Formats: sequence, structure tokens, C-alpha cells
Amino acid sequence: MKLVVIGVDGASWNILEKIKGLEVLSKKSLEKTSAWAILESTSPPWSIPAWNSLFSGLTPKSMKLYSFLKLEDNTFKPITYKLDDIVYVWDILSVYDKKTLAVNIPCIYTAKPVKGAIIAGFIANRLNLAYPKWVNKVLETTGYIVDIIDSKPITDEEYFEVNVKSAEKRTALFLELARKLKQIDLGIIVFTETDRMQHRFLKTRWSIIEKYYEVLDKLVAKIIDNLDDEAYKIIVSDHGFQKPVKAFNVNQYLALNNLLAVEGVNIRYRVKLLVDHLVSNNYIPLTIARKIAYKTGLARRLRKHGLEDHENNKTRILGAYMPSEEGGVFIVGVNEAYKKLVSEKALRKLNNVNGILAYSIEDDSLGPSILIESETYSFSNKIGLPLWHKTIRATHSKYGVFAILGRHVENRHLGKVKITDITPTILYALNLPIPSYMEGQVIIKAFTRQVKPKKMDISYAKMKIKVNLTRKKIKENIEE
Ligand SMILES: [Zn+2]
Repeated sequence: MKLVVIGVDGASWNILEKIKGLEVLSKKSLEKTSAWAILESTSPPWSIPAWNSLFSGLTPKSMKLYSFLKLEDNTFKPITYKLDDIVYVWDILSVYDKKTLAVNIPCIYTAKPVKGAIIAGFIANRLNLAYPKWVNKVLETTGYIVDIIDSKPITDEEYFEVNVKSAEKRTALFLELARKLKQIDLGIIVFTETDRMQHRFLKTRWSIIEKYYEVLDKLVAKIIDNLDDEAYKIIVSDHGFQKPVKAFNVNQYLALNNLLAVEGVNIRYRVKLLVDHLVSNNYIPLTIARKIAYKTGLARRLRKHGLEDHENNKTRILGAYMPSEEGGVFIVGVNEAYKKLVSEKALRKLNNVNGILAYSIEDDSLGPSILIESETYSFSNKIGLPLWHKTIRATHSKYGVFAILGRHVENRHLGKVKITDITPTILYALNLPIPSYMEGQVIIKAFTRQVKPKKMDISYAKMKIKVNLTRKKIKENIEE
């Protein structure tokens, strides 16, 4: 393997600097061994669009991808078709007849033909999880866990165990496939468990976070030990993490400002919401409730209730509405002329809130109209809960981690890099040309021998045609 990208979802310097005694992943050891930087993620800093940006060299603006949701016929749906329409770094490697092994890619929906092998992650169509088909057998024998959803009320210890198991099995799968494929140019493995663990434990149980990083550190060291010394190793996250001071209830705010009307939220529903909230935002009652629910099989009662659960009733929501905590505000159930008006007014109102930045998105009718972000607060979408409320759930921040190690890497602090710089840097390290449509820059300061990056003058549309032709060829060769 010439280069391996180890993706650690949600890894943050403010977390890594507090963890001591790790072989690879602590801030101290990375400072000693790598060229490292603060990685500036996308806006909003969520896995979709961040991983897509990271693996394509494109900004959310040119991908027209700001959220994992789209609004179609007044219903929220996952934006899966857009994820498959992007040209990723492994597609470019295929064009150059270079081999990729990519495991648990969190930003694609379908595993499309690639030279080598690819396995999708949490958002994937489970019927098209892997390419080529023989990989599915390896998934079965190694027991690949795609994702762990934090909705099941299992205890903290069980949650930790299942996340450990998932990361261990994924590493075993990666190493097994690396053995089978041989002569790999680019290896990618993404650990999404860190994100799930940090959401749940960063504010409440630091010791579990620490314990988890110890496990992950050993797995990462194992992957690195399997590479030869010449190989480049990139450790990168898609965004950082923060402990929000409190949660800002975006939909409640919009409703209070007459920009959102929601029908059918009756008193019983509000009471239930409040009880759920009181339980799920106080650590000890939550822990007890999880244990009881687990033992008595009342799992479903603890599931969080979003208004989008009622999406069958299409007339329920009217106005500016944020369907998930990621900060995308959609204009629902109003005609085009009115939509602009509502959007402008909501933008002004949201920008009036201290510590929150709101901006409008104009180039996509199916995506959100407004994006909001904050480095202080998390966002809540539960109408009926207070405007500002307590939260024990940690949330994303815009500033993640980048580090590159290897024989031809300088040991230095690189300052800040952009998430779009990662793909050009991978191509540079593999001695491949960088397509001119990419928006990121090669992080050239990281390398000891700095040659001028090779450029390829090509439009994104032309590259897509090339990639589709290559995919067709790969498919024909494999299925003959
Ligand atoms: Zn997350």
C-alpha cells in the first residue's frame, strides 16, 4: 500500500490533546511524528457533505450538497442520488489504472465499480454495499458492522462494547482484503464509531472516550505496522467536536417569530416530549431509564420523537423548518414567491441570535434554503421544548484533525488546511496529476521533497464521462 487514509470521524485536537499515552493518535505523539494541521471542515460540519468534500476536492457549493436530506413534495427524504453523482478520489485512481481498497466510506450510497474494492458506510443501500461482489463473502466471514445507531437504549458499557467490536471487525476486514488484493495504491478505512461515542459520552463520561481511543489507537497501530516504511499515512477527521453550552431550539424560535406553523402538536404530545427531554438530558435518570427499558423490552418508548415521524401527514408543517440537528433550514409547504420572503425573514431573525451564524443557500431547490452554525451551541428541533435548553449530547465543530506521516514527510505544524485539500494531496503523494476543477490545494509544505504538482486541465463534466467509461470497463472485465 503506497498511501493509507485513516478516517477518524469527529476527531478533534481538543480531544486528542487530553488523551495521554497513545502510540499514534494522541496530540503529543502526532506532534512528534507527523506534519499536522487544524482541518477546516465544510459548512455545515456534518458527515454529509464533509466526507464528500474530503474525498472529491470539491466544496459543498459545487457539489450542491449541504445536507443529507432533501425536500421533495413536502416530504423529507435522504439525498442519496447526489452522493453517487460525485467523482471521488478512488474514481480518479481507477482512471489511471491504480488500485484502491476503501472500507466503510460514509458518504456514498452505492458501491460503484472501482479498480480494487470498495465498501460503503452508514448511509448505504444495504443491497449495494460492496464492490466487487466477492467482497460480500468476506463481509460475512469477518462480520462487518455498518453502523451503530444511538437510539437503542443499551447501557453505556454495552454501547462501548459494541463500538469496540465494530472497529475491531472493520480493521480485520481491511487487513484481510489488503492481503487478498495485493499491490494497493490507496487504502482508506473510516472509523465512524468515534463520532457516535463522542456524541454520547464527551459531556458525561470522559473515561469511556479515553478507553475507546486506547482501543482505536491499537487498531490504527496494527494497520500502520502492516505497511512498509515508504508508505504515507494520513490521519484525518471530517469535522471536530465540541461540548455545547446549551441547545438552541431552532424550530421553537421560528414558531415564536411566526415563521413556522406546525399543526397537530397536541398537549399530550408536548407533555411526552417534555418528559422524554427531562429523562434524556439528565445523566442519571437516563442511565436508569436505559437499563429498565433494556431489561423490560421497552426499547421503543425511549426513542426520540421528531415531528418528521409524522411525515405521512403532509400538511402538518408550514414555513421555515429544521428537520434535523445539522442546521439546514428548509422552507416547507409554501409557493415559490412566498418561499423567498419567508427565507429572507428567517435568515434575518436567525442572524439576530448571538453566537449563531446563518446564511442563505440559493442554488438548490431541493436542499435547505438556510444554513446555521455555531461553535458554542447545539441545535434542537423539538417544538414544544424551551427555546434554550440543557443538553448532554455533544455536537460537531468545524475544526478537525489532519496529520500525515511517512518517510518523505516533514515533521512540522502546518497551521490550517481545508478539507478540500485532502484529495489533491493524496493525488500528489501518489504522483498523479491534479484535475484543474478541484478547489483544494496540495498541502505541499508537508513533504520533504517538494516538486511542482502535476496539473490536468479537465472540466468536471469531462472527468465524469471518463469515470463512467472506466466504471463500465471495470464492470465488463470483472463480470465476463
Ligand atoms: Zn456526528
